[in-house]
Amino acid sequence: MSLSQGRPYLAIPGPSVMPDRVLGAMHRAAPNIYGGALHEMTASVVADLRRVARTTAHVATYIGNGHAAWEAANANLFSRGDRALIAVTGQFGTSWSNSVERMGVGVERIDFGRRAPADPARIAEALSADRAHRIKAVLVTHVDTATSVRNDIPAIRAAMDATGHPALLAVDAIASLGCDPLQMDEWGIDVLVAASQKGLMTPPGLGFVWFSDKAREVCRASDLRTPYWDWEPRGFPSEYWQHFCGTAPTHHLFGLREALTMLLDEEGLESAWARHRALAGAVWAAFDAWGTAGDIALNIADADHRGTSVTAARIGGGGAARLRTWCEEAAGVTLGIGLGMAEPSDSAYGDFLRVAHMGHVNAHMTLGVLSVMEAGMRALKIPHGPGGIDAALKAIAGV
Ligand SMILES: *Cc1c(COP(=O)(O)O)cnc(C)c1O
Repeated sequence: MSLSQGRPYLAIPGPSVMPDRVLGAMHRAAPNIYGGALHEMTASVVADLRRVARTTAHVATYIGNGHAAWEAANANLFSRGDRALIAVTGQFGTSWSNSVERMGVGVERIDFGRRAPADPARIAEALSADRAHRIKAVLVTHVDTATSVRNDIPAIRAAMDATGHPALLAVDAIASLGCDPLQMDEWGIDVLVAASQKGLMTPPGLGFVWFSDKAREVCRASDLRTPYWDWEPRGFPSEYWQHFCGTAPTHHLFGLREALTMLLDEEGLESAWARHRALAGAVWAAFDAWGTAGDIALNIADADHRGTSVTAARIGGGGAARLRTWCEEAAGVTLGIGLGMAEPSDSAYGDFLRVAHMGHVNAHMTLGVLSVMEAGMRALKIPHGPGGIDAALKAIAGV
């Protein structure tokens, strides 16, 4: 007997839960790619990609995942021998910096550890020390999915501006777009990177790079650009095929069209932000109660510095790994692994996990995950404080 039969729930930070409507919109015959509905739909998707990022910037869409979108951004931003300043607050910052370094760009990393956001003052210091203005761009993850830390993008922009350094600001919003408040234009972001499979509720396979007029001009001569990654034809196509440098990702586009309608026209972006904040509040409340006894703690101590789409936590003594296995095998819920907190060969590797509350997720799903987790802690005799579920219920009920 197992209680895992029934609809499984992948509560990991991407791929996120895909709405049946999104999957249904993709379930169709191959469309005519020469004109008509597909072309009109693509134009509306481009318009809504601007709306979801709160920008009038240009957008290039790639067939690829988040790693592909990073590489796309890098290729357009940099020339060989340029320098990049990277604020690292988790595994995703590290991975983006490795990607840009392997492309031949000089990398200056500021590592803020795994439990704190980037300090804008230190970014400003590094820019001020670069008197020759060799740093072409500052790269930051908005929410680093590995640590669940949220970086303060407007504060980083303000600190950069105060130095008078001309570096562009490039932001990875793969884990936050559609979940956490983000406003590309208002916040002065020059280049924004995202992908389809997280807050955008669409299967993995589309990567997006938004680029401002300023970024377009500054990067015109970037020599890392190759035909496939070049954002120019994708952002300014004179023929339909140039949107995607070849065959369009037809079915992903139909899925994304449906997801954007749900997010922007039905729920509303600000309501989606508020929903993510409320669900995150329930998760945080449960962990705070569990952490009053035993070796359990949220990774980011200050709630103001947490992303609202994913929560990273520690359950010591290998409890996190044991709990993940129990939740999957006994209850049909898959929790995220800890990422970049310890080496897989290290005994501490099993002390970390992540709970996603990202995209097409509602109160009963998040409360269900938390209840399953507490059942698992009881079954496995993992020491934990009382009242976790009650605290989550109070957070949801607002009392
Ligand atoms: C998921 C994620 C990535 C990587 O995306 P892939 O599709 O797995 O390549 C990069 N950055 C952030 C912040 C992410 O959450």
